[in-house]
Amino acid sequence: MSLQINDRLLWPGGKRKALTLSYDDGISQDKRLLELLNKYGVKCTFNLNSGLLGIKGTVSAEKKEVPHNKVEKSETALLYRGHEIACHGRYHESLAGMDRARCVWEILADRQALEEITGQPLTGYAYAFGVCDDNIIMALKNCGIAYARTIESTHRFDIPSDFLKWNPTCHHDDEKLFALTGEFLSDDMYFSLYSPAKLFYVWGHSYEFDQNENWEHIEKFVKQISGREDVFYATNREIYQYVTAYRRLVFSTDSTLVYNPSCISVWLGGAFTKEIAEVKPGQTLRLPEPVNM
Ligand SMILES: [Zn+2]
Repeated sequence: MSLQINDRLLWPGGKRKALTLSYDDGISQDKRLLELLNKYGVKCTFNLNSGLLGIKGTVSAEKKEVPHNKVEKSETALLYRGHEIACHGRYHESLAGMDRARCVWEILADRQALEEITGQPLTGYAYAFGVCDDNIIMALKNCGIAYARTIESTHRFDIPSDFLKWNPTCHHDDEKLFALTGEFLSDDMYFSLYSPAKLFYVWGHSYEFDQNENWEHIEKFVKQISGREDVFYATNREIYQYVTAYRRLVFSTDSTLVYNPSCISVWLGGAFTKEIAEVKPGQTLRLPEPVNM
């Protein structure tokens, strides 16, 4: 037997499902992707290289050669409005083994330039080439980066324990994408010791839809997963900020009381109850009765 305290994270409104996307490199194909995302109301974080904005080129990466034109600096803020802009390194260099000062500059100069463009403090990052190690993480911390996405697929919907090693659920081309979508949308209980709430995280590059000539693939996915009352559609930043607010909650030793010191509401519940509790900013609340298992 165990006692289930209803102190687990639920998404805003008491929802049990959240979707976030992440697309890299800031390229012209993002425009078509954005049209699609805006049409269906799905949110995304776009990871940009500020030192490469406006540069034109092509990409093949052992596939069909397609345009790889970086978006113009002047159009960036407006283009990505309603979504999130995050850092991806000033010049998209691999930071592995790089001189420490250069490594910090590659991150910090990118952050500063993108903050000037957006007029907001930016603390999100995606690892260029997916390269992540302890030295790079140290540099990110010193540059004030709070969350950083890898390219390691989990094929799960867990909330990351360490946001500087934020592993996505899968890439959009993953053969399991639609099986995972079905699992995500299902109301069956999600088995996770941390929270019954699911987080589906999909990443990619929009030029890949040109390379694979499969724009219908992402439209099918977005269409299937959008417009649902029970899903929290969020940027990476919104996910990070919400989970951080949850982690700042202060519980009484007997787990009956909870205090929320943050400026946003946090919703709590449990795997075995439909009861939910909203802890408002600055509020101390009595939790719903525990469930005997
Ligand atoms: Zn990249």
